[in-house]
Amino acid sequence: MKIYLDTIGCRLNQSEIERMSRQFRAAGHEIVARPEAADLAVVNTCAVTTQAAADSRKVIRRAARAGVEEVIATGCWATLEPEAAAALPGVRRVVPNPRKEALVPEVLHLPPEVFDLEPVERQPLPGARLRTRAFIKAQDGCDNRCTFCITTIARGPARSRPVEAVTEDIAAALAGGAQEIVLTGVHLGSWGADFSPRRHLRHLVEHILTHTTVPRLRLSSLEPWNLDAAFFELWQEPRLCRHLHLPLQSGCDATLRRMARKTTRKSFAALVEAARKVAPDIAITTDIIVGFPGESEDEFEASLDFVRRMEFAAGHVFTYSPRPGTAAARMKGQVPHAVRKARNARMQAVFAESGARYRARFLGATRQVLWESAVSLGPEGWTLSGLTDNYLRVHAQAPQNLWNRLSAVRLTALEGGALRGVLAG
Ligand code: SF4
Repeated sequence: MKIYLDTIGCRLNQSEIERMSRQFRAAGHEIVARPEAADLAVVNTCAVTTQAAADSRKVIRRAARAGVEEVIATGCWATLEPEAAAALPGVRRVVPNPRKEALVPEVLHLPPEVFDLEPVERQPLPGARLRTRAFIKAQDGCDNRCTFCITTIARGPARSRPVEAVTEDIAAALAGGAQEIVLTGVHLGSWGADFSPRRHLRHLVEHILTHTTVPRLRLSSLEPWNLDAAFFELWQEPRLCRHLHLPLQSGCDATLRRMARKTTRKSFAALVEAARKVAPDIAITTDIIVGFPGESEDEFEASLDFVRRMEFAAGHVFTYSPRPGTAAARMKGQVPHAVRKARNARMQAVFAESGARYRARFLGATRQVLWESAVSLGPEGWTLSGLTDNYLRVHAQAPQNLWNRLSAVRLTALEGGALRGVLAG
């Protein structure tokens, strides 16, 4: 069969369809780049915002319009609204998150144990979902109940994948030529908490750095708790990317309390300080929600001020979007949309300033860049775009195609939200 795989939303969703791709190929099927060429399509949906849910429905409808006989809807939106998913054109099956791991054997009517994935290396998905970096799922679900979060409802309780399963996926990715592994999960920082004896994410990272030849290991989003000073000692190892994404969500303690976040301005600042002590050039990035119910002008100013003081390398700003089923959606003091939008713009401006200051620190420095795209310029060579380990976007030109290769680059100029560089040596 020809199979089309698509996803909306987070790196975890991407890592899941990459694993499905290995399973389908292990069973002798072909992964195609476009729905027009497919007999079956799997769409891994998202529900984190109203827009993400709408995008999920759009991708499903597009696959049906392209003539795919059987569309399978899975992921967070399909889990939360299975009837609505089943009613969409082309959808023959809805597989909720708890059954997602068994989706491929279920669809192919094969017992799970026949899937010996070991020999099947990871291949970047063809088409729009092609990624040089391999996203590897280490953990799923979450036991926290942040009041704005629909993911914890859609993904269920926190559960960790065994070290062996994670390292097997990493081996398959390295065999397929991946230069960078991104560990991902819903609440990655809670990895190992459900094991007996209890383990810590630190142990998994140490194991990977010791027992694999991964050139670059990156950690995806980490909630700003569960991380102690010992954790930052991991950054003595240069293969661990100098990048920490710590979702703060608000820089105001009163708002954090209404969000039921297990962090405060004080504890968050201490965490950032501990990380910068071990790795002074580490990129600290974050997520901020603006316009959360009850967020007064004073609370917003406090949030803005704290974000300014943290000197983030970059940040995503989300305009609060009430998600049905969450506690926050039922809260009083919903902020008018126009006010939320205005606050988003002001918060973005603060991140733009601190981001520019962070990038300017690396002018003249030489950093390793992993090239994620290479476009031919004909006789003039190739124009390249890629990321350093500390999440700097870099553009350069080269006589040859260096896609998915690591190169030393001297950073010579600021270029919009990126840096321009020249290949060193
Ligand atoms: S810790 Fe993250 S995934 Fe868990 S409830 Fe909070 S925001 Fe959601």
